[in-house]
Amino acid sequence: MGIFDFIKEELDEIRSQGLFRALNPIEEGRGAKVKIKGRTLINFCSNNYLGLAGDPRVIRKTKEILKKYGVGSGASRLVSGNYDVHEELEAKISEYERTPASIVFPTGYMANLGTMQALVGPGDAVIIDRLNHASIIDGARLSRAKLLVYPHKDMQQLEKTLQGSESFKKRLIVTDYIFSMDGDIAPIDKLIELAKKYKAMLMLDTAHSTGILDLKVKDMSNVIIMGTLSKSIGSLGGFVSGSQNLIDLLRNKARSFIYTTALPPAIAAASIASFDIISRDCSLKEKLWDNVNYLKKKIKPLNFDLLGSETQIVPFMIGDARRAVEISNSLFSSGIFLSAIRPPTVPKGTSRLRLTVTAMHAKSDIDYLISKLSRIKGVNRG
Ligand code: PMP
Repeated sequence: MGIFDFIKEELDEIRSQGLFRALNPIEEGRGAKVKIKGRTLINFCSNNYLGLAGDPRVIRKTKEILKKYGVGSGASRLVSGNYDVHEELEAKISEYERTPASIVFPTGYMANLGTMQALVGPGDAVIIDRLNHASIIDGARLSRAKLLVYPHKDMQQLEKTLQGSESFKKRLIVTDYIFSMDGDIAPIDKLIELAKKYKAMLMLDTAHSTGILDLKVKDMSNVIIMGTLSKSIGSLGGFVSGSQNLIDLLRNKARSFIYTTALPPAIAAASIASFDIISRDCSLKEKLWDNVNYLKKKIKPLNFDLLGSETQIVPFMIGDARRAVEISNSLFSSGIFLSAIRPPTVPKGTSRLRLTVTAMHAKSDIDYLISKLSRIKGVNRG
């Protein structure tokens, strides 16, 4: 037996369950249409919800800062990788989120990891929704706090969990705001009420809602906002917004902030341009919601199980992982790019096609998608 034989065995096992993942390089395109393997496809699985990744205004600003500073930042923020654009971006985010301060991490994943590790540790508890994003689960594990999980959006169970965890020193509730794989929305008011009642911190992961769905929270005193710049902002990076003390603590303690190279300045500049656009102009957001409503109206008669989607993330449940891949492949042959989402990204037996609508789609793209979906035979209809 060779030392590395286990790798092939593990891969064989992954393949036998229909869970092997392969990569599809995009060869052309940055809008609703992309070219893959020489085929032009309508992209229905991008998180570039507002199209800002390819917006000429964002590209112009990125080029300007690219010329000024070059490509890489050269060091971590605390050494010599901190540029004026990083600080300008943090100020823009604070303005957008209406918080005193913000901190930018190289990715949203790292923002979750670093923040949770900095806020809680052994003797504390992290309380999470069962369908939270993997970065939240990993953040909880890294923190070494006790991980407590409540069923999806079940506020009664959350309350019971809070009642049963009073012996922990600190408690941090964390939840996706728009759930990344289901497209539904967390019950914010109730979460805030319970967090207050039981003196717990509440961290909201707004990765899929920035620029799309405003957070209407009156009292933010026990709320921490986390978000990402990689989806509707069209760039890269993660952020946390809250009090100046919170941000100072993260700068001093969050390992995924301290021990990694800062975002390239031009990428930070891209996010600045995007925030400028979304704070001045609602047209992209309006176009997105118009497309979401159009798709929802058109897809309804097909009777798919849409898992309670309330947003631009519109999954439809297939169940079996292999079947989900088959459908994805068949859509690919018809000119539609829609990846299958399988375990461990989603719970076992809940493989799905996670459709995302963007502001870049034309109504005719949606009509074409619907015509192809209606031909799919034998799909579980929930
Ligand atoms: N949180 C949620 C809810 C997400 O969906 C994602 C990305 N899929 C992240 C965090 C991580 O963000 P990023 O891609 O910027 O690392």
